[in-house]
Amino acid sequence: MSLFEWKPPQSFKNYDLDLNIVKKYATSGVFFHIDKGNSKIVHIKSGQVIYTVGSSNKVQYQLLEALLEYIVKRFNEIFDLDVILSYENVSKNMFNSFKSEVEKILENFNELDLIETIKARCRVCDKILSIHVKKSFIENADDFPVPLVYEHAGHAILIFIDRNFDVRGVELVNTTG
Ligand SMILES: [Zn+2]
Repeated sequence: MSLFEWKPPQSFKNYDLDLNIVKKYATSGVFFHIDKGNSKIVHIKSGQVIYTVGSSNKVQYQLLEALLEYIVKRFNEIFDLDVILSYENVSKNMFNSFKSEVEKILENFNELDLIETIKARCRVCDKILSIHVKKSFIENADDFPVPLVYEHAGHAILIFIDRNFDVRGVELVNTTG
């Protein structure tokens, strides 16, 4: 069952979650990306709950992951899910107050300081690209430099980022899927 949903008031779009894919592959702690053409979806399983966020395809996945990570944290701080989900009947109404929390998070997203923006040169585009990197991705890394693949315009670069968010190298990589 769905516990809580939020979308911007002006949005007519439905980012319907493909529950079959999510249920089949959801592994706790791993972010899944689903490319829907002109939109994209990120989901993560944490405990018994699957969290998901959708946006236009112009938003980089690392931004969506950072947002979702913070939402998961706040949702679990506010609601004791282990207790709530052990009830026989869970009323969705009890999560209504989270609506204003989501709005607050989105309004103050920059102040939350969850993102670092790095610059990397792509020799295919012959451009310096601005790439958003989730701070927790670097801060929780075990080894440095940390590799990050940035797919764009039909090709991909592999960027190596050190613990100070400096780019240590950029390679053109092949991808498949
Ligand atoms: Zn490029």
